[in-house]
Amino acid sequence: MHLAEMSSTDADGTVDATLLPVGATEQHGPHAPLGTDTLSAEAVAEAGAEAYGGELVVAPAIPVGVSEEHRDFAGSLWVRPDTLRSYVRDTVASLAHHGFDPVVVVNGHGGNVGPLREVCARLSRDGTYTVPFTWFDTVDLEELGIEAFEMGHGGGMETSLLLSTHPDLVDTDRLEEAAAGAAPRWGEWAAGTNLAYDTAEFSESGVVGDPTAATVEAGETLVEAAADGLAELLAAVVERDGAD
Ligand SMILES: [Zn+2]
Repeated sequence: MHLAEMSSTDADGTVDATLLPVGATEQHGPHAPLGTDTLSAEAVAEAGAEAYGGELVVAPAIPVGVSEEHRDFAGSLWVRPDTLRSYVRDTVASLAHHGFDPVVVVNGHGGNVGPLREVCARLSRDGTYTVPFTWFDTVDLEELGIEAFEMGHGGGMETSLLLSTHPDLVDTDRLEEAAAGAAPRWGEWAAGTNLAYDTAEFSESGVVGDPTAATVEAGETLVEAAADGLAELLAAVVERDGAD
């Protein structure tokens, strides 16, 4: 059930938990859409809700995240970590005001991880149990038999996921161009320290990893694994919240 599709009279807060997708609008190379992280967060939230099977509401996605590292690439948008924390805090507080808690924040973007962990801790300490879930941290590539991928950025993993959920938005004619200008790993390293702050410092196409390796089947496997992880988390969150 999507909150945005319900009427106010039906939104009475009788749920096990609420899912709040948080994404980003940022470059994902020449082949993938700027909304990749929002689309993936929404797809995983949807699949996770189905896998869980109980009474859940999916709140509208927050579409702009902490993405300043992509500022050199056209169309990339960003907010400051402070702004994201405030926005999530107020959104979750208003959900809780109507009884739509506990809340699991379903995240699709690496740059959001730190701020989300912080704001979810604050909310929980203040009385609304809120837990962040980042889909690509929950999947074990080796276990899934697709260890050829690493998370990267617009690489095999994200491109596969999109091929399975939004095939029309992946420009497969540009996969070679994306791969040719890609970095093998995130950042530029010396003595265990990342010297680079912005993606353009180490990746010409904005991509990290190899999107030519992407397949629909791998995408389906990833969505299923992320959904199973989210369902497992939801059960634990609901039980823990109920035990208070
Ligand atoms: Zn992404």
